[in-house]
Amino acid sequence: LFAGPVDFVKGVVAMSGLPPADRIEVCFAGRSNVGKSSLINALTGRKNLARASNTPGRTQEINYFGLGERSYLVDLPGYGYAEAPVATVQKWQALLKQYLQGRQTLRRAFVLIDSRHGVMKVDDEIMTLLDRSAVTFQVVMTKMDKLSRPEREKNLDQVRAALSKHPAAYPEIVMTSSEKGDGIATLRAIIAGLE
Ligand code: GDP
Repeated sequence: LFAGPVDFVKGVVAMSGLPPADRIEVCFAGRSNVGKSSLINALTGRKNLARASNTPGRTQEINYFGLGERSYLVDLPGYGYAEAPVATVQKWQALLKQYLQGRQTLRRAFVLIDSRHGVMKVDDEIMTLLDRSAVTFQVVMTKMDKLSRPEREKNLDQVRAALSKHPAAYPEIVMTSSEKGDGIATLRAIIAGLE
């Protein structure tokens, strides 16, 4: 699935702009700066693929990438950015809600959690939205290279406890480091298995 080209398809700002629901898709969500672009770049083996989606103006778009012939990888806008204007946040929340509740072909959401911070309030809110939308989500911990083994275990316990309150949570947590490459092959295999 990740052997072929991965191309930017389009940036979407409204439900009417979504590509036809003729492929399965997986989406990636996470707080701003969680390491989402780095993870998508590591997954696809393309250095700057997700950079386009990180440039100002693109950050509020749902970015579609073609993955093989039959799948889309969907990069959702980063949330929890403190300086974002209220109107922008509300617009994004409305679009996110419509997307999660209305996209039949969405197989799984990957919620990225910074290994150092664990599940924060804003992550928990997204998880609740996923529960209500009946979208199975799986947590991907990022930047695990920044933590010692005991710190990792401690934060993993915090995440497990947070997930136990979310019926839509998939129990397996994926630990990754885009920097070192840990967990990337595992995550690729999980996505390939959803096709
Ligand atoms: P985004 O805002 O979620 O797209 O986050 P980015 O991918 O732009 O990453 C935010 C910052 O975290 C950048 O400075 C990255 O270099 C850094 N970063 C991302 N992934 C990792 C990782 O696996 N390990 C380390 N040490 N730093 C990372």
